[in-house]
Amino acid sequence: MTLSKAIEKIKQELDLYYSVHEIWVFIHEIFGALMSLDRAQIHAHPDLEIPSGTWKRVRSILRELKSYKPIQYILGQVNFFGLTMRVNPSVLIPRPETEELVSIIIEENKTRSGLKIIDIGTGSGCIAVALAKNMPEAQVFATDLKKGALQVAKINANLNDVRVKYQLHDIIATYSPVFNGSTPSYDIIVSNPPYVLPSQRRQMSRTVLDYEPEEALFVPENEPLIFYEALCYFASKNLNPGGKLYCEINEDMASEMIKMFQRRSIESFSIYHDLSGKNRVVRVDF
Ligand code: GLN
Repeated sequence: MTLSKAIEKIKQELDLYYSVHEIWVFIHEIFGALMSLDRAQIHAHPDLEIPSGTWKRVRSILRELKSYKPIQYILGQVNFFGLTMRVNPSVLIPRPETEELVSIIIEENKTRSGLKIIDIGTGSGCIAVALAKNMPEAQVFATDLKKGALQVAKINANLNDVRVKYQLHDIIATYSPVFNGSTPSYDIIVSNPPYVLPSQRRQMSRTVLDYEPEEALFVPENEPLIFYEALCYFASKNLNPGGKLYCEINEDMASEMIKMFQRRSIESFSIYHDLSGKNRVVRVDF
């Protein structure tokens, strides 16, 4: 089986399930993961022979894609901020918007040394690992309330050769996480907490709703800012003077968020747009 024949076959098989654009994304992901080919190589070598074992794996991937399982869970990995991160259904698949959050933090803080950073609700660990990799002088901590998530996060720190200290912790609890017997104070707190409203389900795809962890996505309809309230409280207790809280936010909740800041007498904050022009990141200065 040559690469060009394989690509034709993949397009035919998935035609009724996905758009042409989505199918090309799968083709790039599949041959990237299985044969370490980048996009240019995939297009430049139509006659490349695909080993029969690899083609067998592709066929099983196609069967899973037809059940709308996300390609990232099928392959068990995703590229985030130029790094390979392992993922499984106990963690949310890192999104491009979250790369923008990471990029803002690096840009705004790269000249500061000796920073202590904590990522709350780290999930796959993608934010903590990308920050540790790009801010090598910082000390990075991360928490999650799920053991399964911390297992994935630890694998990702090892895989990318960075040190992150992990701790099981629920941000809704009022006590602070303890690392090796001490409770550090931080210069930067970062979080991409759950923020999708149950009423937004209608706009979401099956791949997300059927496979990704609900508890990483949804908040109660009547308490949409529950995690941001907890993060502001945590920040007020655990940030060093001049410290900053950076969060990913629901594009539709910016004005609610501003009202919440006003109630808490928080005066200094900025809201950033993502590449699609949506309100996506907030920075609060304490
Ligand atoms: N942006 C994600 C989505 O649309 C949600 C991420 C989150 O809840 N923190 O599925």
